[in-house]
Amino acid sequence: MIDYRIDVGQPHTHRFPVSLTVRPAGDALEVSLPVWIPGSYLIREFQRHLLGLQAEQGGEPCIIEQLDKARWRIACRPGKALTVRYEVYAHDTSVRAAFLDTRRGFFNGTSVFLRVEGHTESPHRAQIVGLPKGWSVGTALPSVKVDSRGQGWYQAQDYDALVDHPVELGPFWRGTFTARGVAHELIVSGAAEWADLDRLMADTRRICEAQITFWHGRRKPPFQRYVFLLNVVEDGYGGLEHRDSTALICARKDLPRRGVAAASDAYQTLLGLVSHEYFHTWNVKRLKPTAFAPYDYTRENHTDMLWFFEGFTSYYDDLLLLRCGLLDLPAYLKLLAKPVNQVLATPGRQVQSVAQASFDAWTRYYRPDENTANATVSYYTKGSLVALALDLSLRLCPALDDGRAPSLDGVMKRLWALGRPINESDVATALQAEAGCGPRHAADWGTLLADWVHGTQDLPLKELLDLHGVHWTDKAGSLTQQLGVRLQEAPGGLKVQAVMHGSPAEQAGLSAGDELLAIGDWRLRKPDDLVQFFDRKAPQPLLLCRDQQLMRVSLPPPPEGPTPWCHTVTLGQPPADSTGAGDAHLRRRQAWLGH
Ligand code: ZN
Repeated sequence: MIDYRIDVGQPHTHRFPVSLTVRPAGDALEVSLPVWIPGSYLIREFQRHLLGLQAEQGGEPCIIEQLDKARWRIACRPGKALTVRYEVYAHDTSVRAAFLDTRRGFFNGTSVFLRVEGHTESPHRAQIVGLPKGWSVGTALPSVKVDSRGQGWYQAQDYDALVDHPVELGPFWRGTFTARGVAHELIVSGAAEWADLDRLMADTRRICEAQITFWHGRRKPPFQRYVFLLNVVEDGYGGLEHRDSTALICARKDLPRRGVAAASDAYQTLLGLVSHEYFHTWNVKRLKPTAFAPYDYTRENHTDMLWFFEGFTSYYDDLLLLRCGLLDLPAYLKLLAKPVNQVLATPGRQVQSVAQASFDAWTRYYRPDENTANATVSYYTKGSLVALALDLSLRLCPALDDGRAPSLDGVMKRLWALGRPINESDVATALQAEAGCGPRHAADWGTLLADWVHGTQDLPLKELLDLHGVHWTDKAGSLTQQLGVRLQEAPGGLKVQAVMHGSPAEQAGLSAGDELLAIGDWRLRKPDDLVQFFDRKAPQPLLLCRDQQLMRVSLPPPPEGPTPWCHTVTLGQPPADSTGAGDAHLRRRQAWLGH
């Protein structure tokens, strides 16, 4: 048994004093702090916020030797209680670390609880003390003995479980609901008075019920209790999944307003986030890649399957909102076009596969720079399109023996039923078993999957969507998209953020960081100015500033039609005058989207 004590009593210092007590078996004990938090694939080196590490046994200080950046060896006597004390500086406003000020506190165990080598499988207890007046504790960590505000003792069966339950502290709003017989909590910090949190809770409940039904039909899910921790801030967006909870951040303006019936785009996006993180309760927290079983907290955990765990989750997040009636068809198709357009505007899709992008998440996706769009593709967006293309391909197969139509839903349930970590060949086998017939675009499902996951060619989405009653319309991109330059308005001019490989902007010699000052004799201050004065008939003289020097370059006109850096589409219902195969297509859309 390892006992931790975390003190919340000095919030103005942004520090959590922490102690841990353990009975060592030998004459030395090794402790370490994780260098990353599962779900966010970047080495974050949380130990840089650890202060004043010391240890004692029976009042006698122990000698501590630091072994590497996040690991220490403590000399001790066996069999006698050893106490380790330290503080954690907590001023990170994200969902990935720890935060404490006079308004609220939040922590992930990966930031505050040292891991004791040789004891990680034993039960871990944590005592939360010093809760300021008016504050409560919100967490899915099972409590053992707590007061009405949640102050007291919590317990987890091992270290993995201890650090997989984030904790919110403060004078937050709390609502509870039951979804398919399971208790759920919604904890919201920082919302404005006008926010309609009851509506958010009712909509969240619909999402939970749809997802439990998705995975288990009428049976119960594999968790007894689930907690949503939502921190509302001026500007922010994101979430991190955990086994029985999720930590979310949204902007104050994203919340629904009391008395306003229509759901804003921002609120729909927030519901998409809720749906995304809840779907992870199954897909990645329980159905996981072999690389995460178990997690190694000391280094990168590479997997080439984030296209499945993040991409497929991204495909289902909005689809399940549509299925439970929180989106209508036009809104869903607008959201579906987003990843299509994002991938089609990424020249890196022709360079890197989604499997490679998954493996490189640690050094590329989580460390973006001005060349990201040319070098990589997102395993979220392209992964969601692989899911879409597979789902639509399966839906072209005839009904199975039991009368059920093949779909990606069936594949997900087959993978879930395996009850163990999975690899790519498990996905191929599940596709083959679900389909009952060969795929349209390859000899067999394993080959198709390998082509789409390890290849860099564009997916046959236009054809597949058309067969499912969704019309794909190419439309012209904006002038800056066609020129292959991403711009930001900055004081004094337009700043170049990124230049697409092979584009007119690259040919002209533009670089990230350049300030575009004038085109011909006309001053540039905003992207619209470029549109106003750009003459597509001839190369345009452009005046820019780089490192205090003025430079003159010639910007060629963009080519007509789609290019590797610019291909824009809209998705919608087929035009009313389209006839022919239409009925079969609409029947397939009905089966897929329910509309
Ligand atoms: Zn995710």
